[in-house]
Amino acid sequence: MQSAICNCLYTIEAIPGKSHGLIAATTIAKGTRILSEFPLFKVPKGGNSKKRVRDSISDKVAVLPEEQRQTFLSLHNSFEDEDGPVLGRVRTNALPLGSNATMGGIFLESSRINHSCNPNAQNTWNDNLQKLTIHAIRDISKGDEITIFYLTARRNRSARLRALQTDFCFTCSCSLCSLPLDQRKTSDERWDEIHRLDSSIGSGTGILSAPLQTLHDVHKLLDLVHDEGFADASVPRAYYDAFQIAITHGDIARARVFAERAASTREILEGNDSPTVQRMKSLATNPTQHLAHGLSQKWRTTGDDVPKELANDEFERWLWRENTTQVSQYADLRSETAFPLFDDLPEENDISLEFYESTDGFSYRPRKHWCFLAEIIDVENFMRLRLIVKDKAGRKVPIAFYTESRGLEVDPSYIQEGFTVAILYAEQHGFLDLSVGIRHENPTAIKIVPLPLDELLTLSDKVQQYATELKGVRTCQGCNQKAATLKKCSRCGFFWYCDKSCQIAGWKEKGHKADCKLLKDPDLQRLFLMKWNVFEDYYRFGMTV
Ligand SMILES: [Zn+2]
Ligand SMILES: [Zn+2]
Ligand SMILES: [Zn+2]
Repeated sequence: MQSAICNCLYTIEAIPGKSHGLIAATTIAKGTRILSEFPLFKVPKGGNSKKRVRDSISDKVAVLPEEQRQTFLSLHNSFEDEDGPVLGRVRTNALPLGSNATMGGIFLESSRINHSCNPNAQNTWNDNLQKLTIHAIRDISKGDEITIFYLTARRNRSARLRALQTDFCFTCSCSLCSLPLDQRKTSDERWDEIHRLDSSIGSGTGILSAPLQTLHDVHKLLDLVHDEGFADASVPRAYYDAFQIAITHGDIARARVFAERAASTREILEGNDSPTVQRMKSLATNPTQHLAHGLSQKWRTTGDDVPKELANDEFERWLWRENTTQVSQYADLRSETAFPLFDDLPEENDISLEFYESTDGFSYRPRKHWCFLAEIIDVENFMRLRLIVKDKAGRKVPIAFYTESRGLEVDPSYIQEGFTVAILYAEQHGFLDLSVGIRHENPTAIKIVPLPLDELLTLSDKVQQYATELKGVRTCQGCNQKAATLKKCSRCGFFWYCDKSCQIAGWKEKGHKADCKLLKDPDLQRLFLMKWNVFEDYYRFGMTV
């Protein structure tokens, strides 16, 4: 086995099945800078013509000192047949110079670090030093191989294996990829969910329109990352996302805490001379220098509003704005994630990654359920049924019935102004007359609820208030007292009462008679009971309209 001493922290050794790799020569503590290295040369990443790239790289290799040239030519080459000895090595070994960099670099030592889907080290381009740094992101034992993560996106096992095969020509057999089947399934589900949350947070649209939901998504993502045992850049990035949400809405107190956490978690990965770490520290000192500060004052706090007396878990609940009194088992029809406004619906000819995902790169399927809710304000019936509807934001759009029976399948007594239409998996469609609306094709995707939209939302509020159980306690719909021993309305199964007299009060005086009748409809029940963020198969209405 060939072995070269590089410094006291690692050796470069031949590794069976992997060409070379870096092996820890001693115990390396989390946060240690394992090495920092100037690039041998820089190369453009993609986009350029292969011939131009090959020529320019060949020139660079030709002028290298002989010893470096030999070392370069001893790097592994996965693309020898396709790209030859020089470009092939560059494709195999280039490391990115920054997270969105257009340039990569070839490094004599770092380029030998192998991939793991659960790596113990992090590679970062440090613009101040003009060097690549490698940091231990967890404690590494003597004799362990030092590994980094080659891919940019965190995906499930099969997507990772495919990407690694395409981009780097190898089949990953890391500890994560070789988990037994049942554990692999749990891990894959976490990666899928991390990926889903990451792309929805990363789209940035929720920061202004749905900040609380987005903040909770960030928190969920951090929990999943923690459960999966990662300690990589997804952690400081998530804290920075949380910082941006807070500062956009004027919440200086939380912004400060999030920036501090973004700085401290990133410092472990990059060191205190990293420009990003320095910027995070500066934002923690003065969050208002961020450009988004002041866009909204909805959550306004001052830097002094960070609570000092709270226990750890109470502090976390404060930080993430998690109000435990609102834990809910029933869908909130006001949620714009499950019930998007028309303008937030996906466009028919686009694949919106907020709504769709692909596990094989070819076919797409919904990553969640969603349903468009809008009130009928006009009915046209020329050739086919056409409803003009108005959503919660007041946006008026047509729904044109392109079903086989062109709308005749709908019970005419439900086609009324002031009733609410619910359409599953609705998409924006551009009609030939240049209007934009919904082209409705599947008769089981629609439900008409005999209520105006605002009354349906009020019903949803009541379901939140009276159906939800919190730590074994519910609220009686008759007298508003909280108790653990309430009895359920046997007709609808949603509302709860202390006793017969409370039930009568709820029924006669507090409107449950009408609500109960509506809530007996299984389709309406499903709107409340569905797990909107978990897609397994399409849900369809029972064609009872
Ligand atoms: Zn792997
Ligand atoms: Zn009661
Ligand atoms: Zn009832």
